[in-house]
Amino acid sequence: MLALANARVLLDDGFAGDKVVLIDGTKIAAVVDATDPRVAKAERHDLAGAWLLPGFVDCQVNGGGGALFNDAPTVETIRTIGAAHRRFGTTAFLPTLISEDFSMIARALKAVRHAIESGVPGVIGVHIEGPFINEARRGVHDAAMIRDLDTRDVALLSSLGAGCTLVTLAPEMTTPATLRHLAMEGVVLSAGHTDGTYEEITESFRNGVRGVTHLFNAMSPMHHRTPGAAGAALADPDCWCGIIVDGVHVHPAVLRIALAAKRAERFMLVTDAMPSVGSDQDWFMLQGRRIRVQDGICVDENGTLAGAAVDMATSVRNCVQMLGLPLARAARMASTYPAEFLGLGAELGRIAPGYRASLVAMDSGLEVTRTWIDGAAA
Ligand SMILES: [Zn+2]
Repeated sequence: MLALANARVLLDDGFAGDKVVLIDGTKIAAVVDATDPRVAKAERHDLAGAWLLPGFVDCQVNGGGGALFNDAPTVETIRTIGAAHRRFGTTAFLPTLISEDFSMIARALKAVRHAIESGVPGVIGVHIEGPFINEARRGVHDAAMIRDLDTRDVALLSSLGAGCTLVTLAPEMTTPATLRHLAMEGVVLSAGHTDGTYEEITESFRNGVRGVTHLFNAMSPMHHRTPGAAGAALADPDCWCGIIVDGVHVHPAVLRIALAAKRAERFMLVTDAMPSVGSDQDWFMLQGRRIRVQDGICVDENGTLAGAAVDMATSVRNCVQMLGLPLARAARMASTYPAEFLGLGAELGRIAPGYRASLVAMDSGLEVTRTWIDGAAA
């Protein structure tokens, strides 16, 4: 038994300064008072007053540590990306493949399956972002890859067999029946790179689409007469919204407006991170194009944003320092809510008995000092 003591622990009702988290193997055994007899018998780790939060869950990670999933969808790439992001508090993530052809998607799924089976720390599934998107909102995605979603794709996207499969697609480019079929197979659907109207996106929420990918980016914007995909996402009380909080992808004022529009539980931080996160690279190649990393952003030769250069710890800090959110809320947007979005809310994203012991400790400056994944410290 491991006892994590002397921390300010984020529990369901807020921070507690007098609790000790007991870890037994891979799970949280109990959250107890310091005087509990089990604490004296456990191996004690003094966290020196750190914030102890549920480990961050990042649904959108293209790369990190110099590696890009699209470049080589292999177990090694997933391991490199996971290790890079772990330093910033991410203890669960979905390697994310940007629009590719059928065989590359198959390779990506195979690599993620093998990574999960071989216990690569942190990988909990895959995010297939495109190619079933709208060319009008493709952003940096390769136009040549974009195509319709057919029955062969449905079978492939439903085939992971381990962990979660999240698919970003443009609902208007496929049929309600296909959306319902994928959702029934357990695929988590998110609307993104979409030019759908408010009506089309709202309708897609009734056909199995659970959320939107990087709210406001690469989607029909909210205009007061045509609310678009962004308006549909904010008007629907239940849809989850992934947000990139690097201060560039979405203006802080617009993020504050969005966060005021509906309940906190429906927002989740994603990094959309590129290989530069956790490395000192100032450029990388994406599908044959050179992407520059400067001033905290990634841009192609036309100045189009190509993913992000932000990490999860910085995103949480930005929520607190740039948006003025309480740390508890920011931390839940980085852990509890994405876990719930993925259907893992009963095992991941909270500090509570029976939950996976995936945790992050941050110091008073909100820098990561330590992480645990399923009870293993680093
Ligand atoms: Zn995207």
